[in-house]
Amino acid sequence: MRERSYDIVVIGSGAGGGTVAAALAPAVRDGLRILVLEQGPRLRDDEFSGRELEMAAALYEDAGGFLTADGTMTLAFGCAYGGSTVVYTGTSLIAPERVIRAWDVPGLEHEDVVRRSRRYMEENSVHYLEPELINDNNRLFVEGCRKAGYRAEQFPVNVRGCMGSSLCNLGCPNAAKQGTNRVQLPRAEREGVEVVTRAEAQRLEEHAVLVRVHPRPSGAKGEPSEWEPGDYRLHAGIVVVAAGAVGSPALLLRSRLPVPLPWLGRGFTCHPAHILVAEHAGEITNDVGHPKSYYLDRAVEEGYVLETCMYFPFTTAKNLVGHGEGHSRLMHAFPRLQMILVLACDRALRENRVTTDRSGRPVVHYRFTNKVIASLVRGTRASAHIFFAAGALRVSAPSANPPVIEAADAHRVDELARARHFKLGKVAVSAAHLMGGCAMGRGAAESVTDAWGRVHGIPWLRVADASLFPDALEINPYLTIMALADRAAQAVRADARDLLEAWRPEAEP
Ligand SMILES: Cc1cc2nc3c(=O)[nH]c(=O)nc-3n(C[C@H](O)[C@H](O)[C@H](O)COP(=O)(O)OP(=O)(O)OC[C@H]3O[C@@H](n4cnc5c(N)ncnc54)[C@H](O)[C@@H]3O)c2cc1C
Ligand code: SF4
Repeated sequence: MRERSYDIVVIGSGAGGGTVAAALAPAVRDGLRILVLEQGPRLRDDEFSGRELEMAAALYEDAGGFLTADGTMTLAFGCAYGGSTVVYTGTSLIAPERVIRAWDVPGLEHEDVVRRSRRYMEENSVHYLEPELINDNNRLFVEGCRKAGYRAEQFPVNVRGCMGSSLCNLGCPNAAKQGTNRVQLPRAEREGVEVVTRAEAQRLEEHAVLVRVHPRPSGAKGEPSEWEPGDYRLHAGIVVVAAGAVGSPALLLRSRLPVPLPWLGRGFTCHPAHILVAEHAGEITNDVGHPKSYYLDRAVEEGYVLETCMYFPFTTAKNLVGHGEGHSRLMHAFPRLQMILVLACDRALRENRVTTDRSGRPVVHYRFTNKVIASLVRGTRASAHIFFAAGALRVSAPSANPPVIEAADAHRVDELARARHFKLGKVAVSAAHLMGGCAMGRGAAESVTDAWGRVHGIPWLRVADASLFPDALEINPYLTIMALADRAAQAVRADARDLLEAWRPEAEP
């Protein structure tokens, strides 16, 4: 096993890890050695082809098909230089005050989250898209909301030179979306932070990370790793874990940590979501233009948020209810389809948690509560009203009976979409806002870190990603993750001198 030594090792390069890397990068000038480990590959710009199946295989964990333990929900998360920011849509919202207040984490103020989020909005070129870049799929949502008595709001998005190819979730082929792969990581590398890809942190020991660097599989996209494949023991003064809400708890669970952390892995939330589809009489612009420009926030009133969306043929086919002729007819209507994503606001529960199997791989246990199902059904009804108000001929609604509602039955939507038709395992539910597992909080009985990502009782170990969320955010999370990671980086800077002085003499090989 090869041995190397760094002052700070960051594990993961997504919204959290990329932010920490950039925020700590100036310390390289003061002589600190900083390393980022990323288990996914680093793709060249010309490898972003926009082809659904090959990009999903290259950029997502399990090609986007990671299932919860009982198989009732698919979790989508990235595995590449830039993490899930390579595949996110880039909608950029600031955490609501009521949510941060309800989290009740001593030392975490909403104002501070807002201030840091604003800084990253500027850094990532967040703005409202110009009206000429809004496509019919989004315009119909706004119109349908208005006619159905709702007010849609426009998403600020983090794009620069967006060409409206609608391929955000397959990795932007035009380098327009400003994820950490485009902004924070390249800057950190220019300033001297080392980033090693295809480098999987297997477990932690006291001030050490055991890492396996994988060879590039033949025919796979992406560059080979910057390091020789093989096993490494990295000595580290400070370790910052930012492997995401599935990866971080899993890594800590398979490590030999010196103190018990009973809340580790618990309190996993994810905004479970349904894709709803409606058919119009004529063709609309749906798979050209930015896919997600508007949303309707009903979190407080009804426990759901609706967002415009446009998925690719394979994902759409998987999410439509039914099979055979009806399914085929809807798929053939693809150029006439309008789509809405219904997201439920779930709550952190003790039993919804990340564990590991015998080989150390993460397993996510998720129980749908009646409240979450009720939110999805209410969101489905509202979406159906919006679709019909926008002129749709029929709506494919998984929790309705029959699952395809014709315009003639538009007045019966509330009666047709019912919780009793929501059959877990038969209805396609997916989630892309993965949160919790290493929650911030008061003490080790009910949390894993303090408000600055310091793991309780282990001063050299920090967490800086979505796993810090003590409960669901009820909006799109990446800006809040960056704000929390920025705080974690600040705490590392504040504590580094003492921690490194105490560690260095014994560490140097
Ligand atoms: C399809 C999709 C669309 C989304 N759209 C939006 C949006 O529009 N707006 C928004 O706010 N949010 C969006 N999100 C959510 C957002 O992208 C994530 O919440 C955010 O990126 C999570 O940040 P993170 O740092 O916690 O994890 P990630 O960004 O997922 O990064 C974790 C990284 O750690 C790496 N890793 C894991 N384990 C290890 C290990 N053992 N060793 C080394 N590396 C490891 C992973 O490969 C990954 O690269 C979307 C997500 C998806 C999947
Ligand atoms: S819509 Fe814009 S940001 Fe999304 S993939 Fe196309 S060019 Fe990139």
